[in-house]
Amino acid sequence: MRAEGTPVENGQAAFRDALIAAGLLIPTGVDGLYGRSGVFEDVVDRFNDLITTWGGGDGADVMRFPPGVARHQFEQSGYLKSFPHLAGTVHAFKGDERAHQSLLRRLEEGEEWTDAQMATNVVLTPAACYPVYPTIAERGPLPADGALVDVYSYCFRHEPSLDPARMQLFRMREYVRAGTPEQVMAFRQSWVERGRALMESLALPVAVDLANDPFFGRAGRMLAVSQRDQGLKFELLIPIASVEQPTACLSFNYHQDHFGLLWDLRTPDGAVAHTACVGFGMERVALALFRHHGLDVKAWPAAVRAVLWG
Ligand code: ATP
Ligand code: ZN
Ligand code: MG
Repeated sequence: MRAEGTPVENGQAAFRDALIAAGLLIPTGVDGLYGRSGVFEDVVDRFNDLITTWGGGDGADVMRFPPGVARHQFEQSGYLKSFPHLAGTVHAFKGDERAHQSLLRRLEEGEEWTDAQMATNVVLTPAACYPVYPTIAERGPLPADGALVDVYSYCFRHEPSLDPARMQLFRMREYVRAGTPEQVMAFRQSWVERGRALMESLALPVAVDLANDPFFGRAGRMLAVSQRDQGLKFELLIPIASVEQPTACLSFNYHQDHFGLLWDLRTPDGAVAHTACVGFGMERVALALFRHHGLDVKAWPAAVRAVLWG
């Protein structure tokens, strides 16, 4: 895959080991949970700036949330209906001294201690756009030109994997649009094209394809089929660990009136607003760059370095 034709070992674990050996990812002993080196972070930051170069001119409202959503908002979001298997809730110790002694004893004896932890009002953010919908709904009906929001957050999904491109904690930058169906569809269409051009400017081999979310259970399989049939989700795919199964690095989602109904988000004429988002998987894009241009950023093609570092 690399320009100079150097053979790259196949397989996810091999690529993961190479990233760790090069110091780019720092293992923790938990699959999908890594530290990142300064070089890795620099690539993420430069790519983040590149997104702003392409999308910043649209006048999006910038919002930055910590990687936790309020539990009441999470409960109302419907996430547990579709993705109970991916959610991560934050629990904390709320006991007295006696309970503390018991906790320490069980820890010491290698017994289960976490069952005494109690749920807090914080849930780990599953996708960067989740806090946006209740926030803009709170402001009342949308203005005539709708809303456009820029968010960036660490996200958690409980999907431990040896594939370095499938992390449990990773960053997602998103532009989120709310408005009439026409406004929202135009936004998504423009980002499918822009996203492709943006990624091609980094000399990465991209393909855009229909996709579906991994909805939970039997009812979920039907949701997935209908999402695909209606063309609600597209992904921009790049081969990272495997050529046959390229990895989704950007996704373009049209939610129709799903979030509008949930949060009572309306257009000025009182209709339920539609929403869409474009999400950039920051670690995945960095990994795609390392996969295709090599683990040494100084040896990346000059044109790619110029796009990222000017
Ligand atoms: P996949 O099909 O690979 O599981 P997804 O459809 O779940 O991806 P989205 O829910 O659309 O992904 O999330 C938006 C973006 O976040 C994705 O396009 C991807 O780049 C990134 N992303 C999703 N899950 C992970 C993960 N586990 N680790 C790293 N990045 C991820
Ligand atoms: Zn989103
Ligand atoms: Mg997924």
